[in-house]
Amino acid sequence: LEPHYQFMLRLRLPAGVVTGEQYLEIDRLAHEYANGTLRLTTRQTFQYHHVAKKHLRPLLQDAYRIGVDARGACGDVNRNVMASAFPEKSAVHTAIHEWSTKISEHLAWKSRAYEEIFLEQKPSGEEDHEPLYGKSYLPRKFKIAIAVPPENDVDVFANDIGLIAIVDDGELIGFNVAIGGGMGTTHGEPATYPRLGTVIGFAPLDQTLETVETLVTIQRDYGDRENRKHARFKYTIDDHGLDFIHEQLAERADIKLETARDYHFDRNGDPLGWQQSDNGAWHLTLFIENGRIADFDDKGLAHHGQYHGRPGYKLMTALRELAKVHKGTIRLTGNHNIVFADVAEADKSAIEDIVEHYGLDDGRETSPLRHASMSCVAFPTCGLAMAESERYLPELVDKLQGVATDAGVGDVPIVIRMTGCPNGCARPFLGEIGFVGKAPGKYNLYLGAAFDGSRLNKLYRENIGEDEILAELTPLIERFAAEREDGEHFGDFVIRTGVIAATTEGRNFHDN
Ligand code: SF4
Repeated sequence: LEPHYQFMLRLRLPAGVVTGEQYLEIDRLAHEYANGTLRLTTRQTFQYHHVAKKHLRPLLQDAYRIGVDARGACGDVNRNVMASAFPEKSAVHTAIHEWSTKISEHLAWKSRAYEEIFLEQKPSGEEDHEPLYGKSYLPRKFKIAIAVPPENDVDVFANDIGLIAIVDDGELIGFNVAIGGGMGTTHGEPATYPRLGTVIGFAPLDQTLETVETLVTIQRDYGDRENRKHARFKYTIDDHGLDFIHEQLAERADIKLETARDYHFDRNGDPLGWQQSDNGAWHLTLFIENGRIADFDDKGLAHHGQYHGRPGYKLMTALRELAKVHKGTIRLTGNHNIVFADVAEADKSAIEDIVEHYGLDDGRETSPLRHASMSCVAFPTCGLAMAESERYLPELVDKLQGVATDAGVGDVPIVIRMTGCPNGCARPFLGEIGFVGKAPGKYNLYLGAAFDGSRLNKLYRENIGEDEILAELTPLIERFAAEREDGEHFGDFVIRTGVIAATTEGRNFHDN
């Protein structure tokens, strides 16, 4: 059976930025070594599915040749560092892209195992030494993201460390530091809970890297190594308290964070279509339903019927055509969408022609609910899935969009998140409407997260199927249409009207 072993492989891509040439190669590798599709993830990178064991090394070696690797894309180390794809000021994007790369490199493991095992480089003959991770690495995975207000497209508060960029007069001057975010829970175990990052202060640029590293070492030394379900930084913080974290920062690195600076987030979704930044460059964001890039046949199927999409939608071919003519960078977003960034005015029409020819979704059509939806992979690839996610959410969103349109609020985006299990890869506890799989066709329904990603939702109904989901949500959406205050979002509405209590911190997530 050995030849039939297969893998999911995820690349490391700080801030989710690649060039057109890199994109074309990443696409080629999907056809040559994986299942001919690409999956954009909720952490701004590419996943390959169904990589046969014999293809693992060639894929990683070809990726390495274009400057891309998979170091730390998984495991109990720092994961892919995210960064907002949409700063209004283009210079700020350049700066945070550099910061995400700097942090990613700084926290990368130093062992040569990756080079020796996967790239087949000669052993150095020297013993590996991990100055940061030591012999036992971190207690659990560790996640870092950088947001640039007013966009919270990376869900900065869902990370172990969230850095909120503070910009003064067009210049990045430092970051507010939020710590202790994380989504993962276990059904039926109230000791596990999602938590949003707590802002603990401001770090100027010359203190940022040291602050990040010191926080990682606190988690390394105090994180729970006995119980993996209690091993994330969020529990270390809640167990020891924030004063302890400040004391440790001072003791270990003489760091005293300044008072957090003012900031404001508008939303955690992506602005689709064309945006122009201050330097005159254009950026086109395309909606990629549930992050799956494939060519769908006339029946809307791809890869032997495993994935479903719009009939005849040649998305993978279209993105390849765009990458061939595109001269700027390509950015993946934290909502598994894609941005063709830094397009000159003169090059816009060539891009636009391809968008029109293939009918790409640039936000002009389809539904606001669909555009604000996000799902994890789940079946058929994720071994932890308890229910469908990627393959079911579009069908459910269509029905919910119908309800919203009939009620008269079809043009109001509602953040909808679905995952196949409570690990929470698509950050379901930040959905104004969240679904978490319990069994095939059954989901827990959560309500009440904030549209800007600053408040968690709460369990509303447990273990229900589609009929019950629609029966529960239809009257709520109708009531939302009738009683909504000016500009009010659905997540705020269900709290204001007492449908559900607000979750004010992770520890009261399970309280009614
Ligand atoms: Fe992540 Fe669970 Fe979805 Fe698998 S089923 S992708 S582990 S949330």
